[in-house]
Amino acid sequence: MKAAEIARTSEAVLRALRRKTRHGRGNYTCITRRAPTPGPNGPERQDYNFGMPHQPRASFKSPRFAQPATFMRLPHVEDPRGLDVAIVGVPFDGGTSYRPGARLGPREIRAQSSLIRQYSYFQRVAPFDRLNVADVGDIDAPPINIEKCFDVVKSQVGAIAEAGARPIVIGGDHSVSLPILRALAGRHGPLALVQFDAHIDTWDEYFGGKYFHGTPFRRAIEEGLVDGKRFVQVGIRGPMYSEEDFDFHRQHGITVVDIDQVKEKGVAWTVDRIHAVASGPAYVTFDIDAVDPAFAPGTGTPEVGGLSSHEAQRLVRGLAGLSLVGGDIVEVAPPFDGPGQITALLAANIMFELLCVMAGGAART
Ligand code: MN
Ligand code: MN
Repeated sequence: MKAAEIARTSEAVLRALRRKTRHGRGNYTCITRRAPTPGPNGPERQDYNFGMPHQPRASFKSPRFAQPATFMRLPHVEDPRGLDVAIVGVPFDGGTSYRPGARLGPREIRAQSSLIRQYSYFQRVAPFDRLNVADVGDIDAPPINIEKCFDVVKSQVGAIAEAGARPIVIGGDHSVSLPILRALAGRHGPLALVQFDAHIDTWDEYFGGKYFHGTPFRRAIEEGLVDGKRFVQVGIRGPMYSEEDFDFHRQHGITVVDIDQVKEKGVAWTVDRIHAVASGPAYVTFDIDAVDPAFAPGTGTPEVGGLSSHEAQRLVRGLAGLSLVGGDIVEVAPPFDGPGQITALLAANIMFELLCVMAGGAART
């Protein structure tokens, strides 16, 4: 799709969403506070407000490093009703096979998101002017039982979707994408899937278990949550078990864009491939290990030779025009992060790009 076409499509999607908001969910004011709630430093809401109930805290009134951390300093609102997008954490890493630590991802990503300003120059969009976004906090996932965790995640993400909001989930390890897909496919039907990852995550089992961070997308296909022909994996690399690892892909028509293809054919070509495959209602899952450990060392199963931070940003911007019903960023493990918490910082910025895509951004060409 050409940029202008993408922009037109995005506008149409946005108009439809606004109509849905007015007629399907009532007026935004249903969750607007009657008067700004006084916090310890005065009203929580800032003076400039473009009609959306929620805006990030004003950085000229409240230093960026102050206050309990929420994503981009948004209000923490537990009730998702009235939201267009709900930011929600899943601090769970019981599905990891090597180095744990992703349970600490949501806290650190929120902390590192404090610096991100509200307007995307590259996507030409101010997401908080177009969408009502809040941080709904974390899902209290049981840390020691993966199936119980999945039940809670499915139920809570289901409640967000039921309220009419699109979730952007902060993991957590990659196993959490499965219950999210269960919740969203239950509402939207079989989904297209865009997966940024070093790993295929379509293996069958591990130590006799069907659920861990290497199996979510095989289970998602088996359960009918994802349509294999509308499923594209980007950034795949690293040693595999054998060539047979891709038998499942051949059976189900899954598209792989490996890292050599991304590097040799470029971001624009990759974005075209994504759009050719991921038609209809789509979910995006971004495993931070898609990015090279030189840029993103804080992760459980690092693979050398990956995307740069800049390529990652441009690829996510390229999702503009897809019909996204939600997304996640997973596998950030702060205990392995480098100085400056660069992995969590990158993850927070990837989330911002995703939010801008959901707000109808279009990549600057
Ligand atoms: Mn993964
Ligand atoms: Mn991975």
